[in-house]
Amino acid sequence: LVQLRGIRKRFGSHEVLRGVDLDVDTGQVLCLVGASGSGKSTLLRCINHLERPDAGRVLVGGELVGYVERDGRLHELPESRIRAQRAGIGMVFQHFNLFPHLTVLENVVTAPMRVLGYSRSAAEATAHDLLARVGLAPKVDAYPRSLSGGQQQRVAIARGLAMRPRLMLFDEPTSALDPELVGEVLDVMRGLAADGMTMIVVTHEMGFAREVASQVAFMSEGLIVEQGPPQDLLVAPRHERTRAFLSKVL
Ligand code: ATP
Ligand code: MG
Repeated sequence: LVQLRGIRKRFGSHEVLRGVDLDVDTGQVLCLVGASGSGKSTLLRCINHLERPDAGRVLVGGELVGYVERDGRLHELPESRIRAQRAGIGMVFQHFNLFPHLTVLENVVTAPMRVLGYSRSAAEATAHDLLARVGLAPKVDAYPRSLSGGQQQRVAIARGLAMRPRLMLFDEPTSALDPELVGEVLDVMRGLAADGMTMIVVTHEMGFAREVASQVAFMSEGLIVEQGPPQDLLVAPRHERTRAFLSKVL
C-alpha cells in the first residue's frame, strides 16, 4: 500500500533524510523506532506531503503523493489535490490537536462534512459508532479540556478514522500521556490493527511493537538501518546501532 523510494530531505545544511526506502503492505503495522532527531517525524510527514521531500517518491495505493509525473519530471499538485490525497491518510500526533472550542462529536464530524460532503446525520451516525469503538460514547458532548489526555487522544483517533482512511500514521501517540493513560490508547490501536488497518506508528513503546507490529524499522541519522519482524529486530538485531539503541530503551 505504501512505497517510499529514495526519500531525501534537508533543512539548511542538515540532511535529515538521506534516501529512505520503505514498503508497507495493506493490513500491516509498521513500527518506526529510533533516537531523537533521527528523522522519524519528518519521514512520517513526507508520507502525506506535510513535508515536501527534496528527492524521492511517495506512493500510496500506487498513486504518487504530492506530485504528478509529466515528461519524466515531477510537478507538484495543486493544494486542493494534495488535500484530497491527505484526506485518505489519517494522522495522529503526540499532542492530540483537537479543536478546543468544539465538542467531542463536533471534532469528529467536521472534516467528513466539510471534506467528504457527508450530511450531518450521516457524519453523526459514523461519529457515534467510532466514539463507541474508542470507548467514549458517554463523552460525545464534552469539550476537550474536560477530558484526560488518554481520552483526548482517543477522540483524535476517532476523528482520523471518520475520514475512512486507508492508512493511519501515528507520531508518538502516547508519549505526552501520563503512564496510567498509555494503555487505553494502545488498546484502541491494537483493536485497529486487529481489524486490519494499515498503520505506521512512531513509538517508544517496545511492548506494543513486539506484540502488534508486523515489521519494525530502526532509523538512525536519516536512514533505515535495519528492518524486520519484531521477533528478529527486537530480539536479535544485526546492526551495532540497533543494538545500542535497544539496550537503552528495552
Ligand atoms: P524525536 O524522537 O525527537 O521526535 P525525530 O526522529 O522525529 O525525533 P525529526 O523531528 O524528524 O526527528 O527531526 C530530525 C531533524 O530535523 C532534527 O535535527 C530536527 O531538529 C530537524 N528538523 C525537523 N523539522 C525541521 C524544520 N522544520 N526546520 C529545521 N529543522 C528541522
Ligand atoms: Mg518526532
